[in-house]
Amino acid sequence: MSDFNAAAFRQHFPFFTEQPEWIYLDNAATTHKPAAVLDAVGLFYRQQNSNVHRGTHLLSETATNLYEDARTCVQKYLNAAESAEIIFTSGTTAALNQIAYGLMHSVLKAGDRVVISALEHHANIVSWQLHCQRFGVILDVIPLQGDAASGYQLDLNAYNKLLSLNPKVVSLTQVSNALGCILPLENMLLAAKACGAITVVDGAQGIAWQVPDMQTLAADFYCFSAHKLYGPTGLGVLYGKREWLEKLTPLLGGGEMIEHVSFARSRFNQLPARLEAGTPSIAAALGLAAAIRFISTFDAEQIKSYKRLLLKTFHDGIQHIPGINLLSAQQNNAGIVTLNVQGEHPADLALLLNEQRIAVRAGQHCAMPLFELLAVPGAVRFAFAPYNQLTEVEQCLNALTQAVEILAL
Ligand code: PMP
Repeated sequence: MSDFNAAAFRQHFPFFTEQPEWIYLDNAATTHKPAAVLDAVGLFYRQQNSNVHRGTHLLSETATNLYEDARTCVQKYLNAAESAEIIFTSGTTAALNQIAYGLMHSVLKAGDRVVISALEHHANIVSWQLHCQRFGVILDVIPLQGDAASGYQLDLNAYNKLLSLNPKVVSLTQVSNALGCILPLENMLLAAKACGAITVVDGAQGIAWQVPDMQTLAADFYCFSAHKLYGPTGLGVLYGKREWLEKLTPLLGGGEMIEHVSFARSRFNQLPARLEAGTPSIAAALGLAAAIRFISTFDAEQIKSYKRLLLKTFHDGIQHIPGINLLSAQQNNAGIVTLNVQGEHPADLALLLNEQRIAVRAGQHCAMPLFELLAVPGAVRFAFAPYNQLTEVEQCLNALTQAVEILAL
């Protein structure tokens, strides 16, 4: 059993008291927000609203201090060396695009190689592809091995072979958003660093499972979205080691990111402003800081073991439902179950569950190349968060049993 008090945790989330009919299992898409986050965002707009870094008035000074405090809060959470290594973006997608654009325009040359994995979200595929052809950079993909029963994993022998080609960049997800599997990042990143590669981690799904320690994880860059960590949408974090952030060519030009502008040329500002053109999502940054303070009051290991319990209960129940094809495995899983009902379209199952107010996602989960490898057109994803209750898992299993029966008619 788990020591984690899921019922008490859930009470922090107004959504569940205001929308009690919902069983929300779409947490890999976005999580709900605790009252502390809603309050921080509301307070900003009610009492502190002002732009940052530009006003001479007290309101702007207060907003700037709050915004910079939020940056420091993220710095401490990730154990980054300094707050200037935390860049606020609009999300993981924006952060990965900034890294890919920035490296392509500065460090990478024709013939260089970038390694990604078969488990990547489109954000960590397309952001590189956008530039590969133009710059003559080669994108290599670590293939999958294993099967659904034992769990798909990356083929580490193939990875080592790709590393022997001396890639300039290795960019990997921490956790697969489609299958839930946790990558053996520590060793993979160390191996990449041993070959001199720049290392990038897409932490969009991983951040809510395992907070990285930037002093021990061999990552030069790490990105995540606030909205998957109980924070607001519209805000992401791009962490980078100073030496690499300074090498990134800015993707966005505009106010704030410059030190001097003339019509002939511009000189860029210092970090972090250099990579934050325009007015940032100030309220969302305060919301993320509130989310981090909130989640930090709970024991991360207890949350993990509670999520494992939710997964196990769901998996055990599925064994009794005929005709379910599981794509995800129970072991080494951060809380995501992906499955299909034999011979049925995933959207049909998701719609039947929606009729019972169970929110899941159906489709290819922004991982089309992975689904092509798995040779299935899509799947239904059940993604658990610590506010989900064991009773909800039981209700979901019952709804799934009924849906399978209806689909078989
Ligand atoms: N990477 C992964 C692994 C994801 O799951 C997601 C969100 N589905 C993203 C990147 C993109 O995140 P966002 O849409 O918040 O930019």
